[in-house]
Amino acid sequence: MNRDWLEKDFYKVLGVSENASVDEIKKNYKKLARENHPDLNPGDPEAEKRFKDISEASAILTDQKKRQEYDQVRAMGPSAFSGQGGFNVDDLGDIFGNLGDIFGFGGAGRRKGQSYQTNLTISFVESASGLETNVPLRKEVACTDCRGNGSENGTAYHTCNICGGTGQTASNQGFFSFAQPCQACRGQGSVIDKQCKTCKAQGIVIKNETVKVKIPAGVDNGTVIRLRGYGGPGDSGAPDGDLLVQITVEPHKFFKRNGSDLILEVPLLFTEAALGSTIKIPTLEKTISLKIPSGTPSGKTFKVKGEGISPQGRRSGDLYVKVYLNPPQNLSRSAKKHLEKFRDQFESGDNPRDYLNE
Ligand SMILES: [Zn+2]
Ligand SMILES: [Zn+2]
Repeated sequence: MNRDWLEKDFYKVLGVSENASVDEIKKNYKKLARENHPDLNPGDPEAEKRFKDISEASAILTDQKKRQEYDQVRAMGPSAFSGQGGFNVDDLGDIFGNLGDIFGFGGAGRRKGQSYQTNLTISFVESASGLETNVPLRKEVACTDCRGNGSENGTAYHTCNICGGTGQTASNQGFFSFAQPCQACRGQGSVIDKQCKTCKAQGIVIKNETVKVKIPAGVDNGTVIRLRGYGGPGDSGAPDGDLLVQITVEPHKFFKRNGSDLILEVPLLFTEAALGSTIKIPTLEKTISLKIPSGTPSGKTFKVKGEGISPQGRRSGDLYVKVYLNPPQNLSRSAKKHLEKFRDQFESGDNPRDYLNE
């Protein structure tokens, strides 16, 4: 159990009133679960979180007994948790032990470590080909100088004489009688005589590491890659958290992406469009030739099969080349003459510009 859950409003999460019927709750849960389902929102950590919250809220509120317990705890408010920062999972074992399975941890209340998040910016070309790189990782690790207990050399402490080393004192409040963290030792069971200088008695230090991450080919902007076990330390016996690497893909100067397809806009001289031409265009990796038929209008799109992005394990996309007419700049005197001659001889067919003069 953790304090956040008690500050969470399960009714609000599901958009129902506190008097809502179970049917009403189930109906809202179904609707919200559909909208936020991770399969329908790939790479959206917000939706994933909402989905988890919705599921959690529904599990409690659709169970009459659990809903009652939740309501009671809510009615008590923060006074239920007046311990000073030493609050931990085991303190609420009496009340919430039977809720443990719903929240995904065992009755012993061992929590998986916290997830860390980091951002990684890669180029468009790297996103297409995939790469292996290192990301920086700030990890909390136990201080080795004090072996994690926060006292100088790990020995300058004595057992708390208020709680006799258990870290807990008994407390009666309203409906409940439960153990509360000992205020004298903040639930630690021992009092530090002299602080460890390395960690300033925190017992943990921040270690800067790097971790190797393999980015698969075809990764898109906003994708989150999960590295299991590279997050914060879990409670004893529980797994460490994960490192979530959010990928930002820099835009390309020329290429745009649509799924696995690439889009490239290419200028044509109007002579190339009018007479036809074979032009050179780039793909992400090489130069290829593209045949432009005579009389190609501006805005026409040519499909080059298989020259899009090849996401790992999936079919290659295609390259779509969209041409547009780019008028020549700074015409020479003689070029201008030729064009004027062309203009005077040119007769267009049906032209909307002539429509009202006909
Ligand atoms: Zn104590
Ligand atoms: Zn230390």
